[in-house]
Amino acid sequence: EESERESMLAVNDFALKHFEKNLQETDDGRDIGLSYFLDRGINEASIKKFRLGYSLEKSNDLLNAAKSRGYNEKYLIETGLCIKTDQGRVYDRFKGRVMFPVFSISGKVIAFGGRTLKKDVAKYVNSPESLIYKKSYQLYGLYQAKQAIVKHDKCILVEGYMDVISMHQSGIENVVASSGTSLTDGQIRLIHRFTDNVTVIYDGDAAGIKASLRGIDMLLAEGLDIKVLLLPDGDDPDSFAQKHTSSELEEYISANETDFLQFKTSILLNGVKNDPIAKSRVINDIVRSIAVIPNPITRNVYITECSRMLEIDDRIVALQVNKLFMERV
Ligand code: ATP
Ligand code: MN
Ligand code: MN
Ligand code: MN
Repeated sequence: EESERESMLAVNDFALKHFEKNLQETDDGRDIGLSYFLDRGINEASIKKFRLGYSLEKSNDLLNAAKSRGYNEKYLIETGLCIKTDQGRVYDRFKGRVMFPVFSISGKVIAFGGRTLKKDVAKYVNSPESLIYKKSYQLYGLYQAKQAIVKHDKCILVEGYMDVISMHQSGIENVVASSGTSLTDGQIRLIHRFTDNVTVIYDGDAAGIKASLRGIDMLLAEGLDIKVLLLPDGDDPDSFAQKHTSSELEEYISANETDFLQFKTSILLNGVKNDPIAKSRVINDIVRSIAVIPNPITRNVYITECSRMLEIDDRIVALQVNKLFMERV
């Protein structure tokens, strides 16, 4: 099994360099892939740092290149770089896409994400799960971010590949993405190895808000201290970073990141303040979040804060939080 892993990593490493070479040295790579990145404001330094590439619009480009260099077709299929049909035909999974390699924490390429440059198909295609790629235990960008996460004792969590890269380019390097999968406990424990502090900056749309509410409870249950930043509607960290200078971005984050309780209260309470039934639903929801916090002192601070913000007796809040907490343990 160990040699199986080694063989898969080796062919991924070949693919990484092949996609990079396509981007920099072929006409299509430069005209289509490279100009796409440059048009989106991604500079050469970022392209090199994140080892971005391009897969040519051909069925067998990587397959043929790898085979002619002696790589076994078997590993191209096991890594998901190529697909084998029931009829036995083998072809490249990624065609005509800009390529984002996914690195393990030790810097090995374990998967790829490929973004289409057209309108009609799935925007991103990702490598399938394999012996070397367990999605729910990986975070995009962690390899490039880990030192900065330790240095700042804080991790910023975003949704996508481009968000990580644009924020790095703006000088904010303690950023990772859950990339397509909704956040998992494995990913949260991975973050926790490096810091206790997480700021969630998901896309400023309905889906992003929904995902951050779900993520909050999972992060709280892991004992992490959480802040949330809501971006203007329609922005994601990439588009926001590309529209502003580095210092504007930094100032926006420090001025607008809020505690999870404030975030949840303002999102949920929006418009229901004078409706008792709706308000009690909001309070119950917030109480459920507080009840997952493992540290009793932190839990108590939030009980006090919740009763103050929502104007409800703190003994009642405490009673309900403790009841729910006891049910969990
Ligand atoms: P872009 O700015 O290039 O349009 P994005 O990162 O803003 O990309 P989102 O739609 O916000 O795209 O999706 C966030 C992340 O979710 C993506 O970066 C990608 O990792 C993942 N993702 C998006 N669409 C898909 C898909 N169809 N299949 C798998 N993963 C996807
Ligand atoms: Mn989250
Ligand atoms: Mn997005
Ligand atoms: Mn985007």
